[in-house]
Amino acid sequence: MKDLWDRAQKILKERVGERHHEMWFKPVELAQVKDGQAVLDIPNRFFKDWVEDNYPGLLSEVLGELAGETLKIRFKTTEKQDPTTRKMDNMLESKKMKLASRGIYLNPRYTFDNFVEGDSNKFAKAAASAVAGAPGRAYNPLFVFGGVGLGKTHLLSAIGNVVAEKVKDFQVHYVSAEQFTNEVVHAVRHGKTDELKSKYRTLDLFLIDDIQFIENKVATQEELFHTFNSLYERQKQIVISSDRPPKEIKNVTDRLRSRFNMGLIADIQPPEYETKLAIIRKKLDMERITLSKEIEEFLARRIKSNIRELEGCLIRLAAHSSLSGRPVDMEMAKTVLKDILIEDEDKPLTVETVMKGVAEHYGMKLADLKAKKRTKEVAIPRQVAMYVARELTGSSLSEIGKAAGGKDHATVIYACKQIADKRAGDESFNQMIQSLMGKLKH
Ligand code: ADP
Ligand code: MG
Repeated sequence: MKDLWDRAQKILKERVGERHHEMWFKPVELAQVKDGQAVLDIPNRFFKDWVEDNYPGLLSEVLGELAGETLKIRFKTTEKQDPTTRKMDNMLESKKMKLASRGIYLNPRYTFDNFVEGDSNKFAKAAASAVAGAPGRAYNPLFVFGGVGLGKTHLLSAIGNVVAEKVKDFQVHYVSAEQFTNEVVHAVRHGKTDELKSKYRTLDLFLIDDIQFIENKVATQEELFHTFNSLYERQKQIVISSDRPPKEIKNVTDRLRSRFNMGLIADIQPPEYETKLAIIRKKLDMERITLSKEIEEFLARRIKSNIRELEGCLIRLAAHSSLSGRPVDMEMAKTVLKDILIEDEDKPLTVETVMKGVAEHYGMKLADLKAKKRTKEVAIPRQVAMYVARELTGSSLSEIGKAAGGKDHATVIYACKQIADKRAGDESFNQMIQSLMGKLKH
C-alpha cells in the first residue's frame, strides 16, 4: 500500500504542480484500501475541503487507476472537531443527501444568506433572488456572467436551493454545460435521445452552468435550443451562467444566442476592497477561524480579486496554523501566501498615481482629468483612468469616482465596462492599455 501511495503521490505532483502538492497532498497518508474504498488520513478538515473543492475526482481517479478498480474516497482526521462545526456539517450533509435523493446535485452551502453582497455583485444577486422568488415569472431566462471564481455557480445553486426547498415536487435540475454535453453525446450514441428529452423538457427549473462550453458543439446546441423552447413556452424557469456575455460566445447558432438575450442579463464584477473584506469576515465566521483585524485588512488589500482564490488563502492559512500549532501572524501570512499576493506592498499603487500616469500618457493636465467638466477630449482618458485604477489599486468604486471628477460608483462601473469592451474589440487600444498598465506597475 505504501508503494501504491508513493506512486499516487508522484502522479499527483505532476498533476497539481510542486507547490500545491507540497501544501495539500504531502501531509496526506493512505490509511486503507478495502471494499472499493480508499481511506485517507488528513491533518484536519481544511484538507478535505480544499481537495474536494479544487480537485474533485482527482484522488479517486489517480488511486483508482493505480489500483485497477473504482475507488470511493473517504477522509479521516484525528483533529477534534468543534461541536458547532460538526453539527453544521452534519446538517449540510443531510440536506445534500435529501436533495440528491430527488436527483438534485447542489451544494447546500451555496445560499443567498452566504452570498456577501457588494457593488460588484448586487445586481446579479437581486436578479437571482427575484427569480428564486417567482420562478418562470420574473425574468426568463436569467443569464449571469462574470469572471472565474466570482460567484456564478454559487448564485445558480442558491436559486436551486431556495426553489427545491420551497416546492417539494418541483423538478429542479442543475447541470454544468460540460456534463450536459456529455449526456447529449451519450444519448445520441446509444439511441436514447427520447429519454434525454423527457428528462430535460419536463423540468420546472433548469440551471445550466458555464454555457460557454457549448461553443462549437453542434448537437448539444440543437438539443439545448429545443429544451429551451419547450421550457420557455410552459413558463418554466431557465438560468444560465457564462464567463462572458452572450454576444461574446462565438460559434453558437444565432437562434440560440438570441434565446440567451430574451430575459435579463446580469454581470458580476470582481469585488472591490470592502466586499473582499466582508467576504473574508463571513468565511472566517463560517469556518470558525479568527484572524486579527490587521491581517484581515492585509488580505483584502493584497489578494487578487477572485473569491475562490481568497477562500483558498484563508484555508491555507488555517491549515498551516493548525499544522504548526501557531496562531496566524503577519509573518506567517506573508510566507504562506507569498506566491499569490499582489506585489508591491510597500508602495501600493494609489488612484492618484494612476491619474497622474494616465494624464501623462495622454499629454494632458492632471487637473483637467480630475475636473468635473465633461468635454469629449477628457471623456476617454477619464474612463481609462477609472478602469486602470479599478484594475490596479485596491481602492473602492467611490474613491475612484471621487478622484475622477466626482463620479458615483455606477459611473465607474459603466466606465470600466466601456473600456473592457473596447479592449476586447480593438486590439491596438488593448495593447495601449496593457503597456500603460505595465508602466504604472513598475
Ligand atoms: P464561479 O462559478 O463564478 O467561478 P463560484 O460560484 O464557484 O465562482 O465561487 C467561488 C467561491 O467563492 C465559492 O466558494 C463561493 O461560495 C465563493 N463566493 C463567490 N462569491 C461570493 C460572495 N459574494 N460571497 C461569499 N462567497 C462567495
Ligand atoms: Mg462556476
